[in-house]
Amino acid sequence: MHIRDRLGGAPTLSFEFFPPKTDEAEQTLRATLERLGAFHPAFVSITYGAGGTDAVRTRDLVVDLTGRSDVPTMAHLTCMGHTRAELAALLEDYRANGVVNILALGGDPPADGSPPTGDFRYAAELVDLIRGTGDFTVGVAAFPELHPRSEATEDDRRYLAEKLGRADFGITQFFFDPVPYFRMVEDLDALGCRVPVLPGIMPVTTPASVRRFAAMNGSRVPPALFERLEVASPADRLEIAVEQTTALARRLLDGGAPGIHLYTLNRSEAAARIAEALGFA
Ligand code: FAD
Repeated sequence: MHIRDRLGGAPTLSFEFFPPKTDEAEQTLRATLERLGAFHPAFVSITYGAGGTDAVRTRDLVVDLTGRSDVPTMAHLTCMGHTRAELAALLEDYRANGVVNILALGGDPPADGSPPTGDFRYAAELVDLIRGTGDFTVGVAAFPELHPRSEATEDDRRYLAEKLGRADFGITQFFFDPVPYFRMVEDLDALGCRVPVLPGIMPVTTPASVRRFAAMNGSRVPPALFERLEVASPADRLEIAVEQTTALARRLLDGGAPGIHLYTLNRSEAAARIAEALGFA
């Protein structure tokens, strides 16, 4: 169940989840997986806690879903906070348990300002370790609006093209304006890189937390949309989020994007309505 076998044909739909920390959150996730499973996603992906925290939760959920679902499941994995030996052991464990899809990430330095730890500095080094471990489908991250630690667009795009050249596909950080996504695809094309990069987009049902995420990862937040969301009732927010995300996804697909990756925050309502509106039902 390699994700690479599902790419390259009709546009794909995929969903991102995070590992739950409580029994109640676990029930919400299971219900969400069941409902969104009806859309036959090309794959689902499971995030990894910042700095290697929650590593076991991610591992256990990915192994569980891989064993009992026919939807390819991808484990996110970060360099930050890990030795090479720890990453190699985790990859061996995934291989032994039939997990064949990994999103190789750099990870972020600790939020308290202490220096980054770990043997690898960049995601590309993790891609090489994964390639040397076995037959995995490897995804990597892309930032259409530039990575917050990048100083120059040219350098960022060059590193991205090199990293994508060693991977099978990319997924972007969330964004609201399609123009930088299309510009990034053109820049990559000019560098000879045609590896598919799925736009990752997020229906904003909790604007305060999305503002916080956006400030950390360099996504530009459209003021008018967020002002509307911030004064809306929860029910109206859902309507606005579905309408805005569906319109963005349509523009991306019409412009040639290879699929849509939805950040669900483990909730099904907005994601299901968007998938339906896009005709993935
Ligand atoms: P890298 O590819 O290493 O890039 C980081 C920076 O280094 C960029 O500025 C790049 O231009 C620069 N760079 C790259 N190579 C070189 C080089 N050779 N020389 C100099 N500079 C270089 N984080 C988590 O902790 N858990 C998750 O589950 C998670 N999931 C994510 C999923 C997606 C789809 C995305 C887009 C991000 C996710 N992140 C996650 C966040 C990610 O770990 C951080 O944004 C991190 O800061 C960068 O990761 P990267 O893989 O792009 O790093």
